[in-house]
Amino acid sequence: MPYALKLFITTNGVLAAQYFSELKSINPDGINLSLDTLLNERFRHITHRNGFNQLERFLKDILNSKIPLKINTVIQPGVNEDEITSIAGLAKDHPIEVRFIERMPFNGNPDNNSIFYSGKEIEDQLRTHFLLIKKEEFPENSTSQIYQIKGFQGVIGIISGYSRTFCSSCNKIRVSTQGLVKTCLYAKPTLNLKLLLRSSYTDGQIKTAIINVVNARYKDGIVAERQNGQKIYNSMSVIGG
Ligand code: SF4
Repeated sequence: MPYALKLFITTNGVLAAQYFSELKSINPDGINLSLDTLLNERFRHITHRNGFNQLERFLKDILNSKIPLKINTVIQPGVNEDEITSIAGLAKDHPIEVRFIERMPFNGNPDNNSIFYSGKEIEDQLRTHFLLIKKEEFPENSTSQIYQIKGFQGVIGIISGYSRTFCSSCNKIRVSTQGLVKTCLYAKPTLNLKLLLRSSYTDGQIKTAIINVVNARYKDGIVAERQNGQKIYNSMSVIGG
């Protein structure tokens, strides 16, 4: 059966704010909005630039539209962990998913994960303010643990990407900007797709090569990192998002 193609747009909302009506007209299946703070000054500190007002406008426009929204918030201790409750509160009156994400080492800086706030700590903090109900059933291959909160229209997700607690349901493969395939963020590339596509291989041979590397993927990100023999710090934009 053919897969249904879905269109999701990931944005920080800053430049997208001015194009909201165009974005709405293409009727995307959903928007993933990166939002690490609800405070103007802190936004400048985290991103090293202005743009909070545009982000705020974009957020308001989506919340007033019917476009499904996921908010992605990376939590860093000493930076924004005190906003977990207020950001979670965005899901109170809106049927959205607010996802808190562990900081991961993929920004090109070897020391960047010295400050780490775990998914467990995020959950503990949420529990001090809300009655969290853990959803045992969530969409297949989801990478977030979903929680409901009594009285909330939306849900809360926690993505423990650094603790790697959900690898058994991960089905992601990534193609880097150099055309290299990685079956795990922590693994070395295992296929040079660009080379295959630029050679005389048939579609069938390329398909088989992709299936082979997917079948040979590591059990989880811990094993992948161990096999790799070195830490991976490449930026997400290089790895393939
Ligand atoms: S298998 Fe790798 S990419 Fe998938 S969730 Fe685990 S660590 Fe992340």
